[in-house]
Amino acid sequence: MQAFRKILKEMTDLELLWGEPMANLTSFRIGGPVACVARPLGEYALRELLAAVRSEGIPHVIIGGGSNVLAPDGPWHVLVIQVFRAAGKMLKLCADGAQIRLVHVGAGVKLSTLLRFSVCEELEGLEALVGIPGTVGGAVVMNAGSREGSIADALVWVDLLDESGGKRRVFRDELPAGYRNMGLPENAVVLGACLELRTTKRAFLKERMAKTMKQRRQSQPIGFPSAGCIFKNPPGISAGALIDQAGLKGLRFGDAEVSMRHANWIINRGKARAADVVALMEHMEGVVFSRFGIQLEREVRVLGEGKTFH
Ligand SMILES: Cc1cc2nc3c(=O)[nH]c(=O)nc-3n(C[C@H](O)[C@H](O)[C@H](O)COP(=O)(O)OP(=O)(O)OC[C@H]3O[C@@H](n4cnc5c(N)ncnc54)[C@H](O)[C@@H]3O)c2cc1C
Repeated sequence: MQAFRKILKEMTDLELLWGEPMANLTSFRIGGPVACVARPLGEYALRELLAAVRSEGIPHVIIGGGSNVLAPDGPWHVLVIQVFRAAGKMLKLCADGAQIRLVHVGAGVKLSTLLRFSVCEELEGLEALVGIPGTVGGAVVMNAGSREGSIADALVWVDLLDESGGKRRVFRDELPAGYRNMGLPENAVVLGACLELRTTKRAFLKERMAKTMKQRRQSQPIGFPSAGCIFKNPPGISAGALIDQAGLKGLRFGDAEVSMRHANWIINRGKARAADVVALMEHMEGVVFSRFGIQLEREVRVLGEGKTFH
């Protein structure tokens, strides 16, 4: 990383933050200092940066809004790349049919901005995403959604940079999208997406979204730092119900606590460490397995465990 410091400093159109705590970049508010955070200012700079880190073998990870990740506690010797400056501006209507509209959106655009745009333009198809933090890129990777549907339902194509640095357009039917995973090619960096939405009435959209937000506020510990649901729901069962039935609500390791309001959420009560959250997750997995014979699968991506490195 020291040698790479010089290369990074010589690159243009790059915002660099040295030693930034990951706690500042994640909704969990957990994580120690990272070697460097790089924010390319345009697509060209992003491509240059990726080519350099790949050829130099620099460990790196892409994050969007940091709302589905748990970062390590200690100093983390990686380069964190954020794409919101390189791909955070595009948000436009592209086809203007009678009932169907295509929306092109950059990966770095906040999901909440996209939702506001859809209300403004009177377009339906994204209501399942109301209240989900993060960026469009993260939502595409995670196939974010709720019981009502996911972003894959509206997806037409994704523009990405593949492992070799080439720009590719991948269509929805080429992707094995599943529950909380779009199945994008390995190590792809999402640049943007095209979504197909339907025209509707603004009042109808606002009403549906307000109802969803009300339900979220009633059932989720919004307001505490978290990463949303920690585990995926096993087929046909709610992970939260299993954790609740196992008597784990309110269990606390350090400042990491199984939420009393929603058992599938771990909240940070103040100074929770990644080690507390991991120990709590392992404990929850163990208890649920011994009580019900069901192995919980993590939805939150634990950084530093290898597989999220690009
Ligand atoms: C309060 C709260 C509520 C939530 N509710 C929901 C919910 O109802 N439904 C739901 O599905 N999720 C929910 N989540 C989880 C989270 O918000 C979603 O998974 C979100 O889509 C993640 O987006 P992000 O930009 O924050 O991604 P990040 O957390 O930054 O990244 C997630 C993954 O995507 C990768 N990634 C991000 N951007 C890119 C890119 N441009 N190219 C390549 N890889 C990329 C990262 O490497 C990482 O592996 C919630 C989280 C919180 C904190």
